[in-house]
Amino acid sequence: MKSFDRLVKALRRLPGVGPRQAERFSSYFLKAGESEVDEFITALSSLRGSIKLCQKCFSYTEDDLCDICKDTSRDESLICVVEEPQDVEVLEKTGVFKGLYHVLHGAYSPIDGKGTDSLKIRQLIERVHNAEPEIKEVIIATDPDTEGETTALYIADALKGLVGKVSRIGYGVPLGGDLDYMDEMTLSHALKGRTKI
Ligand SMILES: [Zn+2]
Repeated sequence: MKSFDRLVKALRRLPGVGPRQAERFSSYFLKAGESEVDEFITALSSLRGSIKLCQKCFSYTEDDLCDICKDTSRDESLICVVEEPQDVEVLEKTGVFKGLYHVLHGAYSPIDGKGTDSLKIRQLIERVHNAEPEIKEVIIATDPDTEGETTALYIADALKGLVGKVSRIGYGVPLGGDLDYMDEMTLSHALKGRTKI
């Protein structure tokens, strides 16, 4: 079945979906009623049509600013820098961080064509530079792998003299994993145990 295989192939591109799972999902769609399939099609196309990047933190939003940036009870003097929008969700679940975020949309990896220009680093520098009231601390929560570490050092260097404190989330032993694979407990410890860089 050509169209079945095509769907399996498309689903396999989703993060964390293996071949067996992709086949299970495809079988589900094959058996599902018309309205269920339509619901997926509508949800996907409206997602593409309405989601944009927050003008301040570059996380996903349907408005100009995301819900976190709009929330006046958050501490505007703290910025937590993460690689991907889903990292914001993961950190929010810990409930530890009350500041704002900045999403880079990747990490420095020249081999994959990700130079510093393709990340939202220049925007971060501008944001810190123009912040009113001024930023007290930038916490870098990029992944604990080579790309994440390189990005953290680059940002720390770029922010020198612009902000009082730049800290790195305290992963302890480098885990070499993705932020979103960590449980809430590990992450909240990592946030509390951050160190100045
Ligand atoms: Zn935002």
